Amino acid sequence: MGYKQLAIILQGFNGSNYIYKLSFSKELADQYISADFNTFYVADSQATLLPENISFSLSEEELNYLISLGENACIEINNKKIASSFGMTNDNTLYITDKCNSNCIMCPMAEPARRDGHTVPFEIQDELIRYMPCRMEHLTITGGEPFIIKEKIFDILKQLKDGNKAQSYLLLSNGRVFSSHEYCRKFAEVVPEDFLVGIPLHAHVAEVHDTISQAKGSFLQTTAGIKNLLATKMVSVEIRIVVSKLNAEYLPSLAKYICKNFPNIDSVKIMGMEMLGNALVNSDKVWIPYEEAFENMRPAIDILVENAIDVAIYNFPLCFVDRPYWNICAHSITEHKIKYADACSTCKEKNACGGMFTGTDRYLANSVKPIL
Ligand code: SF4
Repeated sequence: MGYKQLAIILQGFNGSNYIYKLSFSKELADQYISADFNTFYVADSQATLLPENISFSLSEEELNYLISLGENACIEINNKKIASSFGMTNDNTLYITDKCNSNCIMCPMAEPARRDGHTVPFEIQDELIRYMPCRMEHLTITGGEPFIIKEKIFDILKQLKDGNKAQSYLLLSNGRVFSSHEYCRKFAEVVPEDFLVGIPLHAHVAEVHDTISQAKGSFLQTTAGIKNLLATKMVSVEIRIVVSKLNAEYLPSLAKYICKNFPNIDSVKIMGMEMLGNALVNSDKVWIPYEEAFENMRPAIDILVENAIDVAIYNFPLCFVDRPYWNICAHSITEHKIKYADACSTCKEKNACGGMFTGTDRYLANSVKPIL
């Protein structure tokens, strides 16, 4: 992952600030300026940066994109490009860091980024949160591993909670940090309401999980973390299973393990790989044809459903999934990463299908089976 990649470059932008409040009303723009916000005021295809008082024209594409974010959105601009935005949509992402204390063998980020990558400076994080509108529909907090920034993550969560920034949250974490009771206690003190933590669990066998995470002892930490988080009763937990050649055969046993040990989890997401970064480098170890992956997923899904645990399938095109399971296939791939094969143009279910990841398409494109 990285900054939310948006294909919008504001060609005429020549402002000197990097975070702005977006406004389509002069009256509201004046209020934002009084409240000490740099403001990006849009009227008649013209942008005016205030209080800098710099104006430039917007193309139709730029204008439509800004309109889609809505009044009061926060936009972060980096070299004319909208690097991140926070508005009244459900796809807002607060990116914390590239770094992670695991190094999953099928991670779409490459190992050097995990080790030495960028962490968003704290003063920028604080400004982004201050500029975010209140009560956004949803905010995802992600990395890397967000807890790699240690105590600062508690401060970020507290700012989000005190500012009533979103109506629901998803935090993606490898969960290892929650094996510490002290961290769990601090987290429970500051966590906003309606908060879901998504944690990957690769297998029910410690050795297999640790081989995939490439972090010795991570199975024990992650499973203790899930248990501790559930015990706080302050958040919901979803378990994420990324299916690879290394764990496919264990899926039914993992499903039984989850039913037995974590019956109170919110849901399980069974996910196809994004073949970039580590996943691409290790493709001979991790790649599994999707038909074969689904054969292993099906009994696991049945076990979870029979035990009243919600399941969803992420990142699998419909033609690799048996029809009775289509209703749990989510449109899970971020819009700018979705690919369809040429053959998909004849498929009558293309609108219902979530497509495949750019990167994974080179493995799947020749085996799609258009539904006619
Ligand atoms: S043929 Fe293409 S559009 Fe149709 S289900 Fe398969 S991947 Fe999706």
